[in-house]
Amino acid sequence: SPDRVFNFAPGPATLPETVLKKAESELYVWRDSGMSVMEMSHRGKDFLSIIQKAESDLRTLLDIPEEYHVLFLQGGATTQFAALPLNLCKPEDQVDYVVTGSWGDKAFKEAQKFCTPNVIWSGKSEKYTKIPSFSELDQLQNPHARYLHICSNETIHGVEFKDYPTPKNPNGVLIADMSSNFCSKPVDVSRFGVIYAGAQKNVGPSGVTIVIIRKDLIGNAQDITPVMLDYKIQAENNSLYNTPPCYAIYMCGLVFEDLLEQGGLKEVEKKNKKKAEILYNAIEESNGFYRCPVEKSVRSLMNVPFTLEKSELEGEFIKEAAKEKMVQLKGHRSVGGMRASIYNAMSLAGVEKLVAFMKDFQSRHA
Ligand code: PMP
Repeated sequence: SPDRVFNFAPGPATLPETVLKKAESELYVWRDSGMSVMEMSHRGKDFLSIIQKAESDLRTLLDIPEEYHVLFLQGGATTQFAALPLNLCKPEDQVDYVVTGSWGDKAFKEAQKFCTPNVIWSGKSEKYTKIPSFSELDQLQNPHARYLHICSNETIHGVEFKDYPTPKNPNGVLIADMSSNFCSKPVDVSRFGVIYAGAQKNVGPSGVTIVIIRKDLIGNAQDITPVMLDYKIQAENNSLYNTPPCYAIYMCGLVFEDLLEQGGLKEVEKKNKKKAEILYNAIEESNGFYRCPVEKSVRSLMNVPFTLEKSELEGEFIKEAAKEKMVQLKGHRSVGGMRASIYNAMSLAGVEKLVAFMKDFQSRHA
């Protein structure tokens, strides 16, 4: 639509136009309920049908096994940084963190308040441009760690796990913060104890955080755990212990429907690979005019950070792009440069337009 820009923001991020139109058409009155989703009781049959459909579509999309709960919670992924150790550990329990960027680091720091975490590998000295090899991780893991925590895609640094390590402790579990690549590709859920993600990148607006947790991990929260962070209470109440973020959950439901209509996550992954490929190729083929600092094999399909060799031109790049309706391309304040977030809802046309602009900008400034 001519009113809309191409929004490369890292989150909240662009949503599918079809989803926004559907929401618009149902905004004032949802079906035969006589009211909008925002006005409904969260315990009424209409909202219950919405949250149950959202869960069941997500289960289909990710092929989530029966022995996992799906929770729709509040407080963002950041709240899960605390909820995880509170639910899975006693204060003296040891856990392992792989820190491949700022989000993994934040998760580790929060865990320090509630258990005994160790950073077994950090990419900080290499400016978070790498993922460790799994054989290296095998050596580094604590055999007693209750869990191994990774951030599957670092939103700021643009490094993504292409496969997942296995915990060394046979009773330990793998936990992943999937906030910025959730539902961007198929995932074997059974390899994880917990997967969690804020919705506001790939699957909806901010306000809801999705937690997929193996049922047997629930029920041992520390006594100090606030009621809202206790997975047992949330699971027993089907995420309706208190008033949930109803509208955000409804929007996620519309996105899940849309992803299923696209043919599921295999198809979605194909589109995401194609988009990322043309953007990274443009960077590689620029003879150093553009640079991506991330090691090639772990470059994110979702967040593409890049710099200009002539860094003094970065402001100009961002300004000119905005004039052509491509916005939010500024890199995170902690790393500078540019970053194009190209989540599920960013169209191929949007990425093609960005690539054409990059080539044109280079021809004028090389
Ligand atoms: N983890 C990752 C990978 C993120 O990208 C973000 C948000 N950008 C967070 C955690 C924090 O999420 P929230 O703002 O929902 O707390």
